[in-house]
Amino acid sequence: MTDDPSRDRQDHAPVLTIRPAIVERNSRRVADRFDGDLVGVTKGVGGDPRVARAMVDGGATAIADSRLANLRRLGDRVDCDRYLLRPPMRHEIDAVVRNAEVSFQSEPSVLRATAAAASRRGVDHRIVLAVDVGDRREGVLLDDLASTLSIAAGIDGIEVAGVAAHTGSLNGVVPTAESVSRFVNCLERAEESISRQVPICSAGSSNTLGLCFDGDLPERVTQLRIGEAILLGTDPTTGEPLPGFETDAVVLSADVIECKAKPSAPTGPTGRDAFGESPTVEDRGVRDRAIVAMGRVDVPVEGLAPVREGVDVLGASSDHAVLDVTAVRESIRPGDSLTFELDYGALARSAASPYVATAYE
Ligand SMILES: *Cc1c(COP(=O)(O)O)cnc(C)c1O
Repeated sequence: MTDDPSRDRQDHAPVLTIRPAIVERNSRRVADRFDGDLVGVTKGVGGDPRVARAMVDGGATAIADSRLANLRRLGDRVDCDRYLLRPPMRHEIDAVVRNAEVSFQSEPSVLRATAAAASRRGVDHRIVLAVDVGDRREGVLLDDLASTLSIAAGIDGIEVAGVAAHTGSLNGVVPTAESVSRFVNCLERAEESISRQVPICSAGSSNTLGLCFDGDLPERVTQLRIGEAILLGTDPTTGEPLPGFETDAVVLSADVIECKAKPSAPTGPTGRDAFGESPTVEDRGVRDRAIVAMGRVDVPVEGLAPVREGVDVLGASSDHAVLDVTAVRESIRPGDSLTFELDYGALARSAASPYVATAYE
């Protein structure tokens, strides 16, 4: 992949159009209302450096991504700390201390290896201890926070910068005022056991903004890590737009390759489709249907919301998405381009598809 995929692929549909000015404005909407450090999360757009820069211009003080490859892509194109959000794989630890100033960690053995790598290379490296406050993805349990923090504090070669809670991503757990207080209380007890305070108390991701905007975050919370709210303007707990945020910072467009009136129901015996599903189709008579040159290889089409009124996504195979366009006022023709807003899964997957170009406007 070249640094600027838009340059060599802009003639090819589908295209992910990124609007850095909107990324910047959405970032500002968070930064203005949170009395702490905003960390911009770029994993939804594959660590796109222009998005990272727009986040920083909008008030982010650091950039975070779950993939080291994305942080590497970022390089020194942003003048701030880079966080690796996913605890490192053993074989990447050497590269982690070279390409990230801060890494999330949850395993003492990996912490030791990270410290050894940082010492070997003579670089400063800070770690943030990931804490599982209930979503049951990565992190030490609250009961183990004090003991693990004290182990981490005793390891030479790394600096323990703080702790981070994350919820929502695996099991949809929503942070509450009570759960955040419990996290903060555990941190304060753990700090007593190591006889010092850590600078970073990172309370969560976009699903924590509701608490933040309602004034329900304890003062001890010093950091939020925000991707979705900035990139899509939505609250992950509901999928609904956050009041005042813009939802079109990134959109996906694809070209129409066929448009015909066809019966909506298939003819002939049916078995499983290309992806092993057995779809049921409602017979709505003859409908205007458009096919766009984009399919499941590029994006999970359930995550698309057509911008043009009257367009309905019916389904997709690997390389074709089929739309009902009967209710569209103007006629749609081959060669037209149709645009879609995306949910987080659709954004992250399309940004990672080698067939999807990136453009900036
Ligand atoms: C993805 C991720 C975030 C950002 O989540 P959003 O919902 O996009 O704001 C923050 N922290 C961690 C650990 C993550 O994996």
